[in-house]
Amino acid sequence: MPGDAVVLRNTRSILEKYGLQPKKALGQNFLIDRNIRDKIVDAAAITGEDVVLEIGPGVGTLTEELARRASRVIAVELDGGLVRVLRDRLPPERVAVVEGDVLALDLPSLLGEGSPIKIVANLPYYITSPIIFRLLEWPRWEMMVIMVQGEVADRLVAGPGTKAYGSLSAAVALHARAEILFRVSRRVFYPQPQVDSAVVRLLPRRDLEVDLQGPSLLIRAAFGQRRKTLANALAAAPWNPLSKEETEKVLLAAGIDPLRRGESLRPEDFLRLWMEFQRVGKIQDVAGRKGE
Ligand code: SAM
Repeated sequence: MPGDAVVLRNTRSILEKYGLQPKKALGQNFLIDRNIRDKIVDAAAITGEDVVLEIGPGVGTLTEELARRASRVIAVELDGGLVRVLRDRLPPERVAVVEGDVLALDLPSLLGEGSPIKIVANLPYYITSPIIFRLLEWPRWEMMVIMVQGEVADRLVAGPGTKAYGSLSAAVALHARAEILFRVSRRVFYPQPQVDSAVVRLLPRRDLEVDLQGPSLLIRAAFGQRRKTLANALAAAPWNPLSKEETEKVLLAAGIDPLRRGESLRPEDFLRLWMEFQRVGKIQDVAGRKGE
């Protein structure tokens, strides 16, 4: 396809011009297919009103198209060499290129107060899950369209009782409706990765009027110790001041057998269980404990 060849040549020649090599350690597999690029941007239904956060813009393949359609793009890139490329190539009045680690940035102060933000990204595979966990808990996003490894996409949409179900699946299900839009061959990246990818769209759930920080803590504790029973895994969590016996009582009061394992719980079970933990009264302030 002629379109592909054009983007590939551009990507390679841009890197060469700036004396850059793709860095495996930063998950640099650049998208080189225009059709896929356009399908990703189309999926986010960008209008002239939208502010878009792009994570890991690379040489700006997606960014260019986002900038054409959105009112403003904030593009966060860790690699200083690529930041130079982006600042040369993209119109500064439409694209703010921010140099930094998306996991370390203070999103509220970067993006300010205001209207909701769409997130579009071909995510670096080595930190996909931490990025998604972080974004989910940030209240300003109205849509995410993200490209991830195929196996991660399966986890994002997996239900309880399936092999792919894990902490990411439960956290996503609590915060969002997730849908795999299409699969993407490994052949459309430079350099070519080992596995195929998929594009997933997430829309925030509006039906849960609860703070999800506590349930998210529970999910992490339950899946962090997968082979332990729930009672053991939760009693060992650093935020939980209750003894194992007290923790078992909370589980029973929530209608959950303490001998079950986290992977059998549905997202709503985590919600109910958190409410029960709060009712017992010793766990209230979870702010600032998210890293535990
Ligand atoms: N968006 C580009 C594309 O589609 O061709 C590049 C995608 S590449 C899979 C991931 C990008 O994320 C790279 O540009 C990489 O340098 C950047 N990156 C890696 N770790 C990052 C981090 N912690 N914060 C921000 N960007 C990061």
